[in-house]
Amino acid sequence: MTVEKLKSGHHTGETECNYIVWIAYSGLGNRILTLASAFLHALLTNRVLLVDRGKDISDLFCEPFPETSWLLPLDFPLNQFNRFDKKSPEGYGNMLKRNVISNTTSTLPPFLYLHLAHDSDDQDKLFFCDQEQSLLQKIPWLIMKTDEYFVPALFLISSFEQELSNLFPSKDTVFHHLGRYLFHPSNVVWGLITRYYGAYLADADERVGIQIRTFESGTPPFQHVMDQVVACFLKEKLLPEVNRQEPIFTASRNRKSKAVLITSLNSGYFDKIRNMYWENPTMTGETVRVYQPSNEVRQQTENNIHDRKAWAEIYLLSLTDVLITSSRSTFGYVAQSLGGLKPWILHKPENHTTPDPPCSRAMSMEPCFHAPPSLDCKARTWTDTGALVPHIRHCEDVSWGLKLV
Ligand code: GDP
Repeated sequence: MTVEKLKSGHHTGETECNYIVWIAYSGLGNRILTLASAFLHALLTNRVLLVDRGKDISDLFCEPFPETSWLLPLDFPLNQFNRFDKKSPEGYGNMLKRNVISNTTSTLPPFLYLHLAHDSDDQDKLFFCDQEQSLLQKIPWLIMKTDEYFVPALFLISSFEQELSNLFPSKDTVFHHLGRYLFHPSNVVWGLITRYYGAYLADADERVGIQIRTFESGTPPFQHVMDQVVACFLKEKLLPEVNRQEPIFTASRNRKSKAVLITSLNSGYFDKIRNMYWENPTMTGETVRVYQPSNEVRQQTENNIHDRKAWAEIYLLSLTDVLITSSRSTFGYVAQSLGGLKPWILHKPENHTTPDPPCSRAMSMEPCFHAPPSLDCKARTWTDTGALVPHIRHCEDVSWGLKLV
């Protein structure tokens, strides 16, 4: 019946069920974070979450809910999701701009498109206000396209406050719980994870993950990033110093082994770190072995095999004991949060120069929302949304971003 309303283009009165449709958009880390955000919004507003399968969602994840599917049926009438973008006339922000929708409009549309992406404007971001949420509550179908982990901003909506605090007594564990509840690697990906873990990581005394993602111009590997990674793990004592003077060094009887899991699109960083621990003994006597599952050279989103490896690597990073991540990367955010880890974040280099300090510890395991709203919904004035409540702060790696702590 709700689908009939969608086809007719009109909508009045109640519907049996309300839905939110998540559109597959952007890289895998982004997709995982946004799916969790959409799910939480659906939970808070009593909607059923349906998932646009894109090219490979069903290949990567098991169905999370027993005996039912979250995948949108293939014959769903509105399946040309690519046509929705910032300029779409069905966009909620655009409708507000044209004054064609408000709390007093008598005939509401059966669906609205929500553009909650990095390029959303202030009108789109009114989504994060109580008043607008009460209007959206009357629309049976919400179609959402986002590449943002918008959960922190849901915590700014006062009508969600009580339920959120019931659901998450510890506010810095939201993605940790949602992620572990929703995202189960499919069997093919689980095979990649378990074989790799068993072969290279399981029997080490400690596992150290290093996620290296660069957003710089030029051809990687970059020497300044290499220097930064080494400076970070030495300064923070996550891996031992090496003795470059003596070929064999047995000062200590420490027989501990550390396995280092590097993930990167490039193999250059791995080569250098592995050689560092092959060519020189460690000062502590510890054994350091270094691995990198893949080096895919470039992002190939929605290529099945590529995305399987990306998902397996995210998951493997989450199984490490100590984690170093690259700033601003959702790939790293998912790994840290699934793993319940507060990573050391490699600061973003400026002008191809190694930052000093090279890295610092995250405040919490939560991902950062990179494009948050900055409106005080009640006063309708601009405000610093990172200073309103103690559990929402600006992020370590994106000064204007918001994260739960
Ligand atoms: P972000 O761009 O760092 O926020 O992370 P996303 O996961 O959204 O997009 C980056 C995409 O590039 C990933 O999904 C992968 O497709 C690819 N990618 C980036 N880094 C790695 C890596 O270390 N290993 C693999 N296998 N793929 C990567």
